[in-house]
Amino acid sequence: MKVREVSCSTALSPSSLPGLDYALNPYRGCSIGCVYCYSPSVLREARPWGRFVDVKRNIPAVLAKELKRKERGTVGLGTVTDGYQPLEGRYHLTRYCLEQLARHDFPVSIQTKSSLVLKDLDLQRRLPEVEVGVTITTMDEAMRRRFEPFSSPSARLIEALRGLNAAGLRTWAFVGPILPGATETTAEALLRSVRDAGTTHVMIDRLRYRPGVWERVEDAVRSTTLLPRYAASRDDPRFFEPLEARLLALGRELGLRIEFAFPRGW
Ligand code: SF4
Repeated sequence: MKVREVSCSTALSPSSLPGLDYALNPYRGCSIGCVYCYSPSVLREARPWGRFVDVKRNIPAVLAKELKRKERGTVGLGTVTDGYQPLEGRYHLTRYCLEQLARHDFPVSIQTKSSLVLKDLDLQRRLPEVEVGVTITTMDEAMRRRFEPFSSPSARLIEALRGLNAAGLRTWAFVGPILPGATETTAEALLRSVRDAGTTHVMIDRLRYRPGVWERVEDAVRSTTLLPRYAASRDDPRFFEPLEARLLALGRELGLRIEFAFPRGW
């Protein structure tokens, strides 16, 4: 892993993601290294994804200046990185940014697949408006490690949801991308665990083959019997419909509010 400390000239960028006005990414690159991540194509990043992180050391100071003149709006923390990837334990940039956002009364939406999110519970509780989404794609640990090598184990993510809910924060679970052979095989246990942790809002999303994703997914499943299914999920535009229908039906049975994360055709 190549870690570089860098300076940034801007902190907030406009966001077109649903529900967000701004995107804030304290790191460039992400050591969680999800096989299906499409941040490299969004960032036009040529370095091998998951093997480098640029640490934007001055981002809290840059953010503090920007917040004085920006119109108030919801800030998505970690749209092309995970603000709670392991390096956050050393640099605390996400925490320092949250302090600034709290000071300037900006609403915050956090999304993560790391239980490190709990380290900032004290601060998150002080934010005027905050919601935290925790991504959990499967309860099958071998498959999780295959697709998301350095995310927290799913059981720990469920515990993170429980802790966030116990602290009174608004949470949602992100079941996405739906991973053939991994998400649907543990879907009931996953949704039940989410519900038992106190989260009732679930967003789902299909696997999206943005540029560069197929090559990494193919590498990840090449040695398994799943390769033909993944090829079908790439080629057949209707492939995910039965999997999505199953999640929607299970959600209804369990009393969860399940929504598609992105508008159809996004
Ligand atoms: S945690 Fe998010 S940003 Fe990081 S590699 Fe995974 S999908 Fe990409």
